[in-house]
Amino acid sequence: MSTDEYLDDVEWTVDDQGHITVDNGDCEDCSDKPCLHLCPAECFDHQEERQGEIYFSYEHCIECGACLVFCGNDPDKGAVSWTKPEGGKGVEYDFG
Ligand code: SF4
Ligand code: SF4
Repeated sequence: MSTDEYLDDVEWTVDDQGHITVDNGDCEDCSDKPCLHLCPAECFDHQEERQGEIYFSYEHCIECGACLVFCGNDPDKGAVSWTKPEGGKGVEYDFG
């Protein structure tokens, strides 16, 4: 089953507040930009028209925690700050 097929079975109750924030100021010096390739929900986008800034949208995040590993906890990157969404908000998995 592909990632897209898995995501077809996922639902979200989107919080008003983003549970992840990205400090774009830290992205300029990030040469490999793993966020553009490793986020399974493709929440990170490269905005050429905005001088290559990284644009982040939290709404369809599946809360896998990968961006904390490849960015937030990496001392050479550290642009991502991660919290859990408020109770009852965020992604909902149907394991049935
Ligand atoms: S991995 Fe982190 S620091 Fe690098 S471009 Fe993506 S968000 Fe910015
Ligand atoms: S937690 Fe996972 S799905 Fe959400 S933004 Fe980070 S890498 Fe993407």
